[in-house]
Parts: sequence; C-alpha cells; structure tokens
Amino acid sequence: MLKSLRRLVEEMEATSDFSTALSTLVKRVREALETESCAIFLLDFHREFYLLAASEGYADDYLQGLKIKADQGLIGLIGAHEKVLNLDDAPNHPQYFTVPESGEEIYQAFLGVPIMYDRRLLGVLMVEQQEARRYAEEEEAFLVTVASQLSSYFARQETTEIIAEQIQVGSEDDTVLLGIPSGSGVGIGQAVVVYPLANITAVPDKETSDIDAEIEDLKVALELTRDEIKELNERMSAKLPASERDLFIAYLRLLDSNSLEKEIIDDIKKGQWAQGALKNVIQLRTRQFESMDDAYLRECAADIRGLGQRVLAHLQRQEVEELTYPDNTILIGEELSAADLARVPQEKLMGIASGKGSSNSHVAILARALGIPAVNGVDNLPCAQLEDKELIIDGYYGHVYVTPTTALRQDFMILAEEERQLDESLQQLHDLPAETTDGYSVKLMVNTGLDADAGIALAAGSAGVGLFRSEIPFMARQTFPSEEEQRIIYKQMLAAFAPSPVLMRTLDVGGDKALPYFPINESNPFLGWRGIRISLDRPDIFLTQIRAMLLANVEYENLQILLPMISGLQELLEAKALIKQALDEVSEGKNINMKMPKIGVMIEVPSSVYQARLLAREADFLSVGSNDLTQYILAVDRNNAKVSGIYDAYHPAVLHALHQTVRSGHLEGKPVGICGELAGDPNVTLLLLAMGFDSLSTNASNLPRIKWVVRRFSMRKAREVLREVMKYSDPADIRTHLEATLERAGLGGLIRAGR
Ligand code: PEP
Ligand code: MG
Repeated sequence: MLKSLRRLVEEMEATSDFSTALSTLVKRVREALETESCAIFLLDFHREFYLLAASEGYADDYLQGLKIKADQGLIGLIGAHEKVLNLDDAPNHPQYFTVPESGEEIYQAFLGVPIMYDRRLLGVLMVEQQEARRYAEEEEAFLVTVASQLSSYFARQETTEIIAEQIQVGSEDDTVLLGIPSGSGVGIGQAVVVYPLANITAVPDKETSDIDAEIEDLKVALELTRDEIKELNERMSAKLPASERDLFIAYLRLLDSNSLEKEIIDDIKKGQWAQGALKNVIQLRTRQFESMDDAYLRECAADIRGLGQRVLAHLQRQEVEELTYPDNTILIGEELSAADLARVPQEKLMGIASGKGSSNSHVAILARALGIPAVNGVDNLPCAQLEDKELIIDGYYGHVYVTPTTALRQDFMILAEEERQLDESLQQLHDLPAETTDGYSVKLMVNTGLDADAGIALAAGSAGVGLFRSEIPFMARQTFPSEEEQRIIYKQMLAAFAPSPVLMRTLDVGGDKALPYFPINESNPFLGWRGIRISLDRPDIFLTQIRAMLLANVEYENLQILLPMISGLQELLEAKALIKQALDEVSEGKNINMKMPKIGVMIEVPSSVYQARLLAREADFLSVGSNDLTQYILAVDRNNAKVSGIYDAYHPAVLHALHQTVRSGHLEGKPVGICGELAGDPNVTLLLLAMGFDSLSTNASNLPRIKWVVRRFSMRKAREVLREVMKYSDPADIRTHLEATLERAGLGGLIRAGR
C-alpha cells in the first residue's frame, strides 16, 4: 500500500491539470483499497457547500456539478467533527443522505476522512462498497495518509481552481478572496499582475491565445541562455579548472538536447504560455532526477532547476518591458517588492494585493506610508485569472473582491467617500497640540523613507521624522548609491523638516529587506546578517552612509542617528566609534568643528529590552521598533502569513517589554519613543501614553487619528486603562477592552482604521 501511495502522489504532482490529478487520485485509491467507489468533495469558497471534485464507481450523472450542503449527510458529519467515519451499514445511519439515482444506493460500507490543511477543513475523501463490512484499520490508515499527503496539494490548488471557475462563468455573486489587512482604505481599480522574476516554482499556469508568439519567445530565450552560458564558460576558463566548469557543459548539453525544447513546445501547443510550459517541463524533469537512487543523479535536479531559472529570466525580461499601468492600477502578485510598488506612478496606484507577506511585511509598511489600501497573504491568489479584472481592495478587512457587482461597487464608493470626509475633518486637528485633556503632551512624529511621502508627512503637521528608513532609497537602485547621491537624498529630508528633528536610521537590510545588488543567502535570514550587524562587518558601507548624513546635516543640524537591531552594548559602542571616526573625517575635510549628532538605539530584540538601561546610559535616546520586537519576543516571523494569527503586538509579553523599556530609559533620564506600527494604532495610544512614551512615530495618514485619541482622554484615564489591560493574559481580551474604550468615547470610527 505504501508503494501505491508514493506512486499516487508522484503521479498527481506530475499532472498539471487539477481535475485530471483528482481523477487519477480516486482511480488509484479505489484500486489500492480494492473497493468499489471513491469520491472527493471539496468545500466551496464560502464554506457553504461541498462540491464533488472527482469520483469513481457512481452513475455518470452523479458527476455533473453535484453540490451538497455543508451540514448534509455523512460528508457533512465528517466535516463538522473533522473525524474519520467508518461504517459497515451506512444507509442505516441517522444522517445518511444520498442523491437519487446516483448509483450510491447499492453501497453499504462507508469510510470517509476529512482533508485538513493548516487546521482548516478543505474537504472529504470517501470510499464505499456493497459488502456490509467495516473497513480494516490499515485501510483506514491508508485513506488518512492519502488525505494528509494530499492536503498540501489541495491547499495549493483548491481556491485557485474554484475561483477560476467562478470568474470564467462570470458568477453573479461577488467573489471575495481573503487575506490579511495590510494598509487601510478602499481601492477600486484594474488588476495589473507582477510576475516574479526568475522564480520558476512561482510561475502560474496561464492560457495563451497566441501559440506561435509564445514558441518564438521561448526560442529567443533559449538562444539567449545558450549564448550566456557559452560566454560564462569562456570567461571562467581563465579562472576555473575544467572540472569546475562541468556545470556549464551540462547546461549546454541539456539545452541542445532536442527533447527539452520539444517538450516545452508540445506543452505550449496545448495552450500553455511559454513560462508555464517551461515550469512544467523543468518540474517534471527535476522530480524524475530527485527520485533517483544515485546521489550524483539526484544532484542533477538542482542543475536543471538552475537552468530553468536562467531561461525564465530571459522570458520574463521580455514581459517586464510590456507592463503598462492604467490610471486606477491595483497591483497584484504572488510576492510584491518595494521596487514593484515604486515602479507604478504614484497617482495611478489604487491598491495592492499579494499572495505572500503579512501586515508587518515591509511592502505593507510602504503601502501604509503611501496611504495605499493593501491586502497581503491572500492564500492561493489566482494571479493569472485576475489580470485586467476589476478589483476592490478592502484594506480594513483584508478582502479582495473580483469583478464586483454594481451594487457592491456602489457600497464601496460610498465607504471611500466617508473615509475621505473623515480624513478631511481630521485635518482640522492639524495645528492643535497633541495634548491630553489634563495637559500631558506627547510628540507625534512621522515615519518616512520614500521621497514621495515627504509631502504627505509635512501636511500632517508632525513634530519631525521619528523614523527615516534609509534603506528604501537603496532598494530603488541598481547599485549602492555613492556618498554624494546619499548626501543629496538625506539633505532633502533634513531640509524639508528643519528645524524639527529627523531621526535617520542607518541601513537596515537583511531579513525580508533585500538589495538586488547585495544578495544575502541564509537559511534563517531574520536571525542572520541584518541591520547593525552588516554595518559593523562592512564599515566601508557604514562610514560612507554616516559621512553622507553628516555632510547633509551641515546646514540644518537637525539630524539624529538611529541604530537598528542592536542586541548588546558592544554593538552600540562599536557603532559610536565608527560614527566618531566619520565625524572626524568630515570635520577635517570641511575644516569645521562639527557637533556629534544625537545617537539613538532601536529596541527591537529581547536582549536589548533587558539591557535597555545600560544602552540608555550610552545613547541619547531609545526608540522601540515594535514590529521586530513582537516578532522576536513571540518567535513568529512577521512576514509569514501562515503564522500571522499569532503575531500579535497586543500580547501581554510585548506590552510588558514596552513598559519596561520606557522605565529603563527614564531611569537614565533619556527620552523613549516608539516607531513600529503599534504607534499608529489608535487602540493602543492610551496604553503608550500611560507607559510614558515621549514620542510616537507613525505614517502620516495615521497621525491625525492618533492625535484625536490623545486629545480626547485624560492621562488619568489612560493610566486606568493600562492598569486594567495588564490584568489580562489573552491578547484578544486586551483588544476587546481597548476597542470598547474607544467606542464608549464615541471614537468607534477609528477602530476600523486601526486594524
Ligand atoms: C520595527 O521593527 O518596528 C521598525 C520600526 O523597523 P522595520 O519595520 O523597518 O523593521
Ligand atoms: Mg525593525
């Protein structure tokens, strides 16, 4: 049975067509169990019905779009209890239900198992037989194993397929895709799909209407790849011995082998676009090699994948140039980067949705900085089917509506208008101080990083920049910016806000922030080479940046330097020494006596919370980066949609860490700010005030909302709320309590915005 299981999984994986794969599955399960029928039901998108996806051993008509209610029959029972059901006499079960003339009436024995993925029910797999008998334990175990082996396969395909169907049929119902709210607001527009560059596994299947053009593109890409490899081989011949260049020879041999090209072209001729056909063939070949016994041959799988990536890069370069952005662009992609966002003219970008990422990914933070509605982590986002479709992005609830009905579009247009009015009314707070009703004030500052948002930030009436993410200008380039280029960027920022302070964070790359020209390959990037660690290991990069900041500051003297990812005192001392070195160099070059700017430490790592007092003694101020701090305290990747449910900055452990940091900083007489996303959440403003934060820094569009909360309450009330909330152990209770506090004060409208 184990053998048949392995064969079955391999066979399915090798089939690119979803329904054929499922038909194969039911056939093989029926054979392996020597039973008379087998069927798979999948839950529909709204989880209201089970749809028959494939079956063997029933009347043919049974196959035609059978749909049963989610609570109906034995299938419904299995789904409701998420448990195996093994019956020798199914028709006598009180919940037995069958479709007349389905051919099912003859069966007595029934075995059904739930198909689960990630705690989520996807469907039910069942077998039946005429003979009244209980399926044996090993048969039950086999079916359970099939279901669990295949659950991840279903998870990758299920929603995509069902949604694809709905879109093609032009369903009257609104199709909604669920993701993680990542940038509040509503965006209505036309989908533009960004396909990932050279990531062969992420290429979606897509039908083409121009087979000849796809074949031509493929041939060009193959030719370019051949030339590229030949050139690489020649260039390397002086540097590498022939044995080390075997890979190039192997690539060339593969490319020249007629069969690879022919197989891809055959797939294109079936209607697949060139990129998808390339992916299918490369995946098939790599799987064949991966399953070989010989270790050397298994290694060849990686070579084939590498070759596929190269060909794909050429195919995609032809695509990239063709992207055009309509006036109401909704940017979508399996994985969007800051550079993808930056490529769209700002006035045309109405929203974004991506398959990967969460509300704390940097692309989400960027979207918020630009005031763009965003939904990340949309499971199985069917990119190819969405191309050019009208979409509504509901960034409050994390919903993406596909080809909305007129009624729905109108509802959202009203909502967008209400939002605009709320923003307008909040502008009246522009010149008023951020002060509680009993006279405590807090500095409200803005987070920035894009040149484009400097204007919005200024308009929001802030007390300066609490976080300038200096890596963002680095990301939009093809090489490291020179000292002079950096000086110009920094000077613009300092000039725009002078005399208010601008807290410039030194380069914070690594983790999920990659520079295309500075690749870092690590298996555990969030715990790896990032932030200050890179700066200290590469003083050339760090000193250039600091010199550029200092030079930019000569005229304005409002620069403060913020150090990211500090995990211990030694790092701070080393960074300070380098900053002093840069200061001496610049002073000498300019022949002036420059003052050392204030230096702050970002508190983003648990070790720095415990050492906050020590760090505060050596620094001029502290600033909590609550995004990373939450990630590291809770050990949950801020970028992983799968665990986003447990990434929760309302967790009492995170709140305690914030409070402790403020106390430690104040014991040393140093100001403490917060610049993570929590600072922009109106729900927690009272807590942050009560903890004693001296400044809150958030994106410009959140700032008026935060000011509104500050001005509505007294510090006495804030302290009372903090005391209450700290009694809870469950983050959900904390959220409920905070939301209720705002509701009671008539600020319920802010809750949605704070999501
Ligand atoms: C943070 O971690 O909270 C922070 C402000 O930095 P970033 O989000 O850029 O990592
Ligand atoms: Mg951080």
